[in-house]
Amino acid sequence: MTIKKMTGTALLAALLLAASAQPALADTVYVDCDVLRCRTSAEIRDDNISENLYQGEALERTGTQGEWTVIRRDGKTRYVSSAYLSEKKPSAGGAAAQGSSGKSSAASSQKPSGTSSQQNASGEAVGLSADWKYAEFSKINSGTATLYRTTASARKNRTVCVNAGHGTSGGGSVKTLCHPDGSPKVTGGTTGAGATSAVAVSSGMTFSDGTAESKVTLQMAKILKEKLLAAGYDVLMIRESDDVQLDNIARTVIANNRADCHIALHWDSTTSNKGAFYMSVPNVASYRAMEPVASHWQEHHRLGEALVSGLRGAGVKIFSGGSMEMDLTQTSYSTVPSVDIELGDKASDHSQATLSVLADGLLAGVNAFFSES
Ligand SMILES: [Zn+2]
Repeated sequence: MTIKKMTGTALLAALLLAASAQPALADTVYVDCDVLRCRTSAEIRDDNISENLYQGEALERTGTQGEWTVIRRDGKTRYVSSAYLSEKKPSAGGAAAQGSSGKSSAASSQKPSGTSSQQNASGEAVGLSADWKYAEFSKINSGTATLYRTTASARKNRTVCVNAGHGTSGGGSVKTLCHPDGSPKVTGGTTGAGATSAVAVSSGMTFSDGTAESKVTLQMAKILKEKLLAAGYDVLMIRESDDVQLDNIARTVIANNRADCHIALHWDSTTSNKGAFYMSVPNVASYRAMEPVASHWQEHHRLGEALVSGLRGAGVKIFSGGSMEMDLTQTSYSTVPSVDIELGDKASDHSQATLSVLADGLLAGVNAFFSES
């Protein structure tokens, strides 16, 4: 038959049939980051990750949807963030092009030459174990942290927990106990002194330029992660997307059990560009006598002082004496050296260049802390 003899409707049907019989238009794009989450829907959630994709992996792109790229994987429609894709095969790639689902940690044995961005192709998911001390005080714990092993030749055999502050959807409407013994908070802060419970994870502040603190802490965490891995540390990343379903207690207990120190990244809510400092353990006898604070507050301070010294050495402005007393949920449950570091405030510059300098300072602080240990 010929097209001439068809009615308009029949012609349309024939064209649609011809189109559906062929593969949909697709081109190839490549993963251009260490680990890229492949999702079953175009949104960041903890329960829609179908698999991890790795640096250099070729993907079949069938379309885009907002900031998401639609791909086809094993005949199924999947979504990945367009921000981490390249139209050209990343030149330094090679370690991960074979990536498939079900990779275990440290599966990438080949060390790519050169770039630190490929120190680690995969990480190990670490969830909260109900057996761990204080785990029962957590209310939000369906998410997982990720443990990355360094591939640097000079391993430090130390794991640093990098905790990008905030970023738990719904965390502001759940309350957890401030102290494991149920006693009231001894200083103000997000929650006032005297309260026995506080929000499980607050949403954080907004910078003067309109950027959410949680976005900047995440960006900072990713930069610090790469520098720590390159320096030979293993890194436990609490959060690597806009939302992880881990409250402050869950984050702390995971760090207690899987890391040698815990660094929570924050910016303060003042607007004076006052500089960086760490939250120190309040000099209140009852608080410093309460476990696990009693056994650990001095090492929290030593870590805080080391980080502030590192930042100062990197040229970062430091607030006052470099610390401020604060009764934090994090510190109240920490059994490894643990610090909430405020890297500036609402008025501080948070460009990539500044964050890189901050990460250099924090790395120097971590090095000093462990060399003294
Ligand atoms: Zn914060």
